[in-house]
Amino acid sequence: MSSAVLCQSETCINGNPPSRMECPTCSKLGIRGSFFCSQECYKRAHKLIHELAKNPGSSVNVGKSPDSYNPFPNFSFTGTVRPLYPLSPRRTVPGHIPRPDYATTGRPNSEMREAGQPPRILSSEEIEKMRTACRLSREVLDIAASHVRAGITTDELDEIVHNATIERNAYPSTLNYRNYPKSVCTSINEVICHGIPDQRILQEGDIVNIDVSLFYDGYHGDVNATYPVGKIDEDSQKLIRTTRESLDASIKLCKPGALFRDLGKAIEPIARANGCAVVRSYTGHGIHELFHCSPNIPHYAKNKAVGTMKTGMIFTIEPMLNLGTNWSEIHWPDNWTATTVDGKRSAQFEETLLITETGVEILTAGRSPSI
Ligand SMILES: [Zn+2]
Ligand SMILES: [Zn+2]
Repeated sequence: MSSAVLCQSETCINGNPPSRMECPTCSKLGIRGSFFCSQECYKRAHKLIHELAKNPGSSVNVGKSPDSYNPFPNFSFTGTVRPLYPLSPRRTVPGHIPRPDYATTGRPNSEMREAGQPPRILSSEEIEKMRTACRLSREVLDIAASHVRAGITTDELDEIVHNATIERNAYPSTLNYRNYPKSVCTSINEVICHGIPDQRILQEGDIVNIDVSLFYDGYHGDVNATYPVGKIDEDSQKLIRTTRESLDASIKLCKPGALFRDLGKAIEPIARANGCAVVRSYTGHGIHELFHCSPNIPHYAKNKAVGTMKTGMIFTIEPMLNLGTNWSEIHWPDNWTATTVDGKRSAQFEETLLITETGVEILTAGRSPSI
């Protein structure tokens, strides 16, 4: 969709009879020949013409329904991505599927109780259950990734993840975790993490991170990756490549006796050498019966993380890299979506890892770990 096509349209962009009302914003932006009806849909949909005119070639926030809207119109967004509500109704999980303690209340009580405890060493039975949960997580991520294309909404990706998860008799770990409303996180362009699937369609040139986590037989698996939507620009390609490379470099350091604080030393130099900054506010984490627990794993250099890796520990590494030099983030009023402060793009990759006697096993490994 381009501004030229919309502006030369002979009918209202929502199919209502056109009228030749003069739009003051269009005039100011120098758009000629833009027709629109005088009905309610004008107010929301006609704005798209303005956005296209102001940001030619950039991502535009379009949904499939003319009823979708930005719930935070007065918020100062840092980039071009906008939330597009209404969110779809909460998806249900069949009663026979075991669920974590927060599924009903939103409060992860066991996780809060265990806060501050040292990382746990898992038994071989537990490790086998983690292998299964992580393999299923990867399967679901791959299924979701196979649907990434211009024109699909992130809510449709959420539905795909949700259904693939419950088909495997698993519970989507994010659903109602601290009241998070959806079964997956979808983070587009300048969104660093925790993007909430909504009515926005993916656009050619976007990048999207899909973060899948699921709870199977009492244990969580957690994996994410960033994907191009069609053809993406060179900076975005470099960002995705560098983020994956930095994760792979940090995984290579993992073995019994290695220090958690050293992982950032592998990640940050690769990021900097490629013109990227490492996000500091979000970290990797221990994972097993609890979704998030110790160890806490920062991805930047010179961090003060405590702890040594031991055989039988399981945790994630999940670096988020921003194009440019600014590593800080800002949150949308939904209290989840974190974006870069300068609107530049951000990418992330995540694997769940087991420390073995000889090194590390990537429990969520895909067929081709590098893109
Ligand atoms: Zn994750
Ligand atoms: Zn994680």
